[in-house]
Amino acid sequence: MPSMRRDLSLFEGYHSPQVDVEVRLNTNESPLRPSEEYCRELAEAVEKLELNRYPDRTAVDLRNALAAFHHVDPAEVFIANGSNEVISTLLLAYGGPSRRAMTFEPTYAMYAQVAKITSTELIEIDRDSDFGLDMFEVLEAYRDHRPDIVFFCSPNNPTGLDEDPEIIRALARNLDSLIIVDEAYGQFASFDALGLASSHANVVVLKTFSKVWSLAGLRLGYLIGPKEIIGNLWATCLPYHIDSIKQVAGLLALGRLDEMQATIDLIVSGRKQIEAGFDGLGVSYWRSSANFVLFKAPKGKGDDLWKELVDRSVLVRNCSGWPRLSDCLRVTVGTEDENDRFLKALSESLSQLRS
Ligand SMILES: *Cc1c(COP(=O)(O)O)cnc(C)c1O
Repeated sequence: MPSMRRDLSLFEGYHSPQVDVEVRLNTNESPLRPSEEYCRELAEAVEKLELNRYPDRTAVDLRNALAAFHHVDPAEVFIANGSNEVISTLLLAYGGPSRRAMTFEPTYAMYAQVAKITSTELIEIDRDSDFGLDMFEVLEAYRDHRPDIVFFCSPNNPTGLDEDPEIIRALARNLDSLIIVDEAYGQFASFDALGLASSHANVVVLKTFSKVWSLAGLRLGYLIGPKEIIGNLWATCLPYHIDSIKQVAGLLALGRLDEMQATIDLIVSGRKQIEAGFDGLGVSYWRSSANFVLFKAPKGKGDDLWKELVDRSVLVRNCSGWPRLSDCLRVTVGTEDENDRFLKALSESLSQLRS
């Protein structure tokens, strides 16, 4: 039997530790389940499906609905099982051996993971100490490395900060690179890159149902971009990769925009609640435009604080061992009650660590 590919064999992959706790604020999902009416509508639609047949291969109905939602042409929409699968399809089509991708770190760890699996060389450029990007430094790094693919994440995970549209625009002028803008949390952002995608041949925008749509368990994500790129992705993905249930589930969700909007409102007020709590406790944090907030533990105490919170049945993401994020933890905005429990546990934990 052959051994596993040597470049992958020592590789641990991506995982977010799941601990059994009462308050789970570690993976940036929506704290709300989809509505009962939605679930009922979905159950009825599933009953009518002919599951003995293969699904519509390019999900025409869902694609048309997404295109209408974003005012683009259906030929400008690619759909997959979560935006992670969109990223992997992008790198299968445009990355691979002898190709280079550039990320600005810290950012979403999946870009590095998919680069590794697809044998795409990865160039990691550091953000500045406040996690912003500097135009001059970005352009210099770009000229030095000439990447085939550049990843932006706006708002960026795990910092919660919007990217600077002028920097994306400056790189997009250079048609040698494919520019991927990940807008998993785009509903909260101060700008969206769809305008850039429609005016540049090399810009694509990534969206997901996993966050404010309350459908992380559905695994549905999509990409909007120029027809030629989208066509290449449909040619690269496996046949029938989007199952029939997912296709109707996405379609029905798009019919309930008001529910999604209500989730956004809940999250924005929950984020204010958490930020006010941080201010009260004297905790430093980055002002987020997403559904999570990155904050700092007392110096050298990131792991300890994370454990104290787990002891109080609150799970957040421990980023403190990641490069460039020492002492940092990331909390997902939950319901009002969950946010309260988090803040109370945080207050107790900080007292515990001080004593
Ligand atoms: C959560 C997240 C996604 C979503 O991935 P799915 O595969 O659609 O669940 C994509 N990008 C970023 C930056 C994220 O944080």
